[in-house]
Amino acid sequence: GPMLVVDALTKTYDDGTTAVRDLSLSIDRAEIAALVGPSGCGKSTTLRMINRLVEPTSGTISLAGRDVMKVDPVELRRGIGYVIQQVGLFPHQRILANVMTVPSLLGTPKAKARARAEELLDLVGLDPATYAGRYPHQLSGGQQQRVGVARALAADPPVLLMDEPFGAVDPLERRRLQDEFRKLQQRLGTTVVLVTHDLDEAVRLGDKVAVMAPGGRLAQWGTPAEVLAH
Ligand code: ADP
Ligand code: ADP
Repeated sequence: GPMLVVDALTKTYDDGTTAVRDLSLSIDRAEIAALVGPSGCGKSTTLRMINRLVEPTSGTISLAGRDVMKVDPVELRRGIGYVIQQVGLFPHQRILANVMTVPSLLGTPKAKARARAEELLDLVGLDPATYAGRYPHQLSGGQQQRVGVARALAADPPVLLMDEPFGAVDPLERRRLQDEFRKLQQRLGTTVVLVTHDLDEAVRLGDKVAVMAPGGRLAQWGTPAEVLAH
């Protein structure tokens, strides 16, 4: 069955703004679903409802067949990774320690966590020999973003939510990082919900594309080819 099912999801904030209106999506395991649309159409709110940072007004979300509202919050944190554009690395920790945060908290043996962190840094295009020992402020915005992706993957979440993850990466490098991310995601079998305002990115990375419209409505939902045909 599908990994993530969003059914008739609606969010109206306290001030009366309806950010998401009657949204339904079904995302299979190891798929990337790209939510694309202009600023303010409810993409971030949708992600925040999936990981319970925002409470839905109505509708349901199920993760591997379970209602997320009934999943223990700690378990949910482990099951759902979250990457945002402002990655929020720990400024006083070196890059390697930043990537190892979650495995360390979970008690993964240090040598194993370290080897994996180095492998992930390499996979996101940061040579560990050069970057592992640096501090976040010694990296560019785009490089910090790569660290954020490596950190999220280090936790090995079955589902990864990404809000404009490549927004801070310069356009020349963005495509390379997108392609590397795609390969890595397929290898790990991670189910991804990716938010972007860039249709190119949505079509390039999404197995399914959800085009959202102002007012939080779903305008289109289908494969990239189906969406592009409209
Ligand atoms: P997007 O991610 O597509 O830019 P958002 O989900 O951030 O869209 O926002 C959708 C709409 O909801 C916007 O009109 C935004 O101003 C509004 N909104 C977002 N967060 C809040 C909030 N906490 N309170 C009230 N309105 C909000
Ligand atoms: P993003 O587009 O990445 O969601 P925003 O700048 O829209 O970033 O939102 C940043 C923060 O401000 C979020 O926590 C969001 O919920 C909140 N926010 C956004 N719009 C509003 C709003 N109209 N009223 C209150 N909070 C808002």
